[in-house]
Amino acid sequence: MKVLVIGGGAREHALCRSLSQDPAVTELHCAPGNAGIARVAALHPVDQSDGAAVTALARELGADLVVVGPEAPLVAGVADPLRAAGIPVFGPSAEAAQLEGSKAFAKDVMAGAGVPTARSYVCTTEQEAAEALDAFGAPYVVKDDGLAAGKGVVVTEDRAVALEHAKGCDRVVIEEYLDGPEVSLFAITDGTTVLPLVPAQDFKRALDGDQGPNTGGMGAYTPLPWAPEGLVEEVLATVLQPTVDELRRRGTPFSGLLYAGLALTSRGTRVIEFNARFGDPETQVVLARLRTPLAGVLLAAANGTLAGLEPLRWDEDAAVTVVLASEGYPANPRTGDPIEGLDEAEADGTAFVLHAGTTSGAAGEVLTAGGRVLSVTATGADLAEARAKAYAGLAKISFKGAQHRTDIAAKAAQ
Ligand code: AMP
Repeated sequence: MKVLVIGGGAREHALCRSLSQDPAVTELHCAPGNAGIARVAALHPVDQSDGAAVTALARELGADLVVVGPEAPLVAGVADPLRAAGIPVFGPSAEAAQLEGSKAFAKDVMAGAGVPTARSYVCTTEQEAAEALDAFGAPYVVKDDGLAAGKGVVVTEDRAVALEHAKGCDRVVIEEYLDGPEVSLFAITDGTTVLPLVPAQDFKRALDGDQGPNTGGMGAYTPLPWAPEGLVEEVLATVLQPTVDELRRRGTPFSGLLYAGLALTSRGTRVIEFNARFGDPETQVVLARLRTPLAGVLLAAANGTLAGLEPLRWDEDAAVTVVLASEGYPANPRTGDPIEGLDEAEADGTAFVLHAGTTSGAAGEVLTAGGRVLSVTATGADLAEARAKAYAGLAKISFKGAQHRTDIAAKAAQ
């Protein structure tokens, strides 16, 4: 099978790593990729959101499957011309990707499907926003309706800050605050059948102890020893299947990866948000535990044949990933610094490095090229062992101003 992966972050590196280990995959390509992905896939400098260019590349390569990683190309509709050309594609249509592209659309689908989520108002004027803030009270939750790369959500006790964020957006969703721990649950779907993966938890804040600004994610782990028994079955029955059924009923079937961000509140499980693609950094740890070869699963989703697939097989091991970010992330990441110790971090085989914002310099050196630069992932008999191995690998890598959290999976490992 010839596979083309679209994207160039750590999520795509994780996907490419798993695909490269699948004996069914004979050729692996990635566009645009990054310096780490270049070790396992042939890179192509194509604009990932240009549907015509991506389709032309897939045709030229004779791709049997195209996997679209990030949300921006999905919301831009890159999967549509691929499907129209008869090329199997893992990732939803532009219409179905609105589940992530518009928070208001997602709320509407959830209302139609009876999926439990925070009560909310969609507001387009300052007056409406002010009234909604007062209706719910503090803490205030204000979400930009559109895609904002993890920066569109403000959760604050300060009404003025909340209102200021609302004023900066064309359309906002203001909703009730959800307490309780968060869980990320991914599911692979062909639009009808839904296959949940193992739950994971990520760490959104930049600093230890969940302090500092929201980021794209600073680390993740799986399994969740503290999660209630039957959580996956409950979320499949009350969230994932009804949402997939509702989108099919509306004539916009969703195929690809449905990501439910959940809060386990005192009043039950609630959806915080949906994403229309694998999450980063949870993908790093979830795929580290998946034993079923990946390409066949993604192809079955693309072809609408998931119902015939054998149940997924998982490692009993735990997995932990820690993100190394550049100085100034998330506000003003510094780039262009040489990264040392990449080979040393992987030398004894206990941890592996997945690149996010990296590029190759003129002399073949690897340079930082983004906010989240890379992540170091390890598996172990339990979370404590996986955590120790991931941090030992991370300690060997350095670049100017590198920052990371020291408490990823710490509580859960105790
Ligand atoms: P989102 O982009 O919707 O996932 O929001 C980013 C982060 O903001 C989430 O992971 C939560 O930590 C927080 N958040 C979003 N919505 C709520 C809510 N209704 N109550 C509490 N925290 C929230």
